[in-house]
Amino acid sequence: MVSAENILGEKKLRITQSRKAVIDSFIANRHALSQPDLEKLLENSCDRVTIYRILDSFLQHGILHKVPDLEGTQKYALCDSCSDHHHHDEHLHFKCTVCGHTECLDEIPMPQINLPEGYQVDEWNMLLQGICGDCEKS
Ligand SMILES: [Zn+2]
Ligand SMILES: [Zn+2]
Ligand SMILES: [Zn+2]
Repeated sequence: MVSAENILGEKKLRITQSRKAVIDSFIANRHALSQPDLEKLLENSCDRVTIYRILDSFLQHGILHKVPDLEGTQKYALCDSCSDHHHHDEHLHFKCTVCGHTECLDEIPMPQINLPEGYQVDEWNMLLQGICGDCEKS
C-alpha cells in the first residue's frame, strides 16, 4: 500500500502536513484531481498558494504527472515510479463523461506508434473518453 510518508521519503522531501494532505487526497480518490478539486478537498488545511507550490514541486520530483483534459483544466495524478525530472507515464487516460473523473489506465499496454524518422516523443497525451466501469453499472 502506498502512503504519503513512503512517497515523500523516497523523494527525500520533508514530510509536512500540506504535502501529506495533497498526496493523501490522490490516494483516497483514485482519479485525477485538478487544482480547484484540491482547493475544495483541502479547504480547511491548505491555501491556494501552498497547493500551487506543492503541485509544481511534485511535478518536478516525479510524484505527480499531468493528465490531459479536453476542458482545459489541468489535472494531475500520482506517478507510478517516476524519478526526478524524468517522467515515464506512458499510459492511457480515460475520462468518464458521466462522473467526469479521469483515471490512469496504467495496466494496459500502449499501442506501438511508429513515428517518421527524426521525430521524438517528449510527452504522451492519450485521452480516451466514454463511460467508466462504475457508471456503467448504475
Ligand atoms: Zn511521472
Ligand atoms: Zn464514471
Ligand atoms: Zn496517468
